[in-house]
Amino acid sequence: MRGTVIHAPGDVRLETLPDPEIVTATDAIVRIVATCVCGSDLWPYRGANEIAGPQPIGHEYVGVVEEVGSDVTGVRPGQFVIGSFVASDNTCPHCRFGYQTSCQHREFVNGCQSEYVRIPLADGTLVATPGEPDKSLIPSLLALSDVMGTGWFAAVAAEVQPGGTVVVVGDGAVGLSGVLAAKELGAERIIAMSRHETRQELARTFGATDIVAERGKEGVARVLELTGGVGADSVLECVGTQDAMVQAQRSARPGGNVGFVGVPHGVDIPGDKLFYSHVGLRGGLAPVRRFLPDLIDRVFTGSMDPGKVFDLALPLDQVADGYRAMDTRRAIKTLLQP
Ligand SMILES: [Zn+2]
Repeated sequence: MRGTVIHAPGDVRLETLPDPEIVTATDAIVRIVATCVCGSDLWPYRGANEIAGPQPIGHEYVGVVEEVGSDVTGVRPGQFVIGSFVASDNTCPHCRFGYQTSCQHREFVNGCQSEYVRIPLADGTLVATPGEPDKSLIPSLLALSDVMGTGWFAAVAAEVQPGGTVVVVGDGAVGLSGVLAAKELGAERIIAMSRHETRQELARTFGATDIVAERGKEGVARVLELTGGVGADSVLECVGTQDAMVQAQRSARPGGNVGFVGVPHGVDIPGDKLFYSHVGLRGGLAPVRRFLPDLIDRVFTGSMDPGKVFDLALPLDQVADGYRAMDTRRAIKTLLQP
């Protein structure tokens, strides 16, 4: 099969790789219908993470089950499926509490920017759609595999309530998905922090009522001004830097909550600031699997269209262009079709 391999910073190539095979009886092989480039794929691409030799890449996928191991009973060949970027058994205590990304048997899914992928723990990981989806739904279903599931978790972790006021820090695909999640969960006022015109537009399409272009102290001051000096009930932190985390905490009102899903890079939270702020913090690696049945339903019923985050679609053999477009911020998110 053909699959994407990262060799070094700035060097991704589509190559001929061995077809994946069933390794354990709980595996499934999925034929990829659509995959995409994640913001986190850009870390090794930009040299921020070490690359120990050529390796397959990609962790977002929708596709059709091709083959299942002998212990798999929950999905069968021919079904259209979506799964999280972390495989989970969905039966251990952590899974039953809804934290499937902390599953006692979790495995990270990789090698999805290819024609086929092996998914471990298929029964716990894969969710079949109600029948073959219309082609027009595929980008939105693909978004559920990571960005929309992660934005949703940020909103749930920040305890977004109907009628509430929400601030979203970060205008990447996850932040924009967080705006959509807040809207779906009934927030009345959604303040998106963004300096980029095309992203501001999409934020408004997804339900943002206000845009704040200022950052740091000025950004916090603007949020306070918009909320009558009170601060937001819920803040979604979708970046992962110290500045973004500080901005998020200061934008929440006393008793408000921050949901943080940006993978921390050098974030240090002073205990005394947290103590005196009365702001709640919850976040981490989004347990996307928890939300998949509900989110698939929302896409199938037309309630939401998170696929709009894909502003570039390319055939898989142009994967290198897809990375370049995101690296230079020409694209918010690149969809790839084998
Ligand atoms: Zn588990």
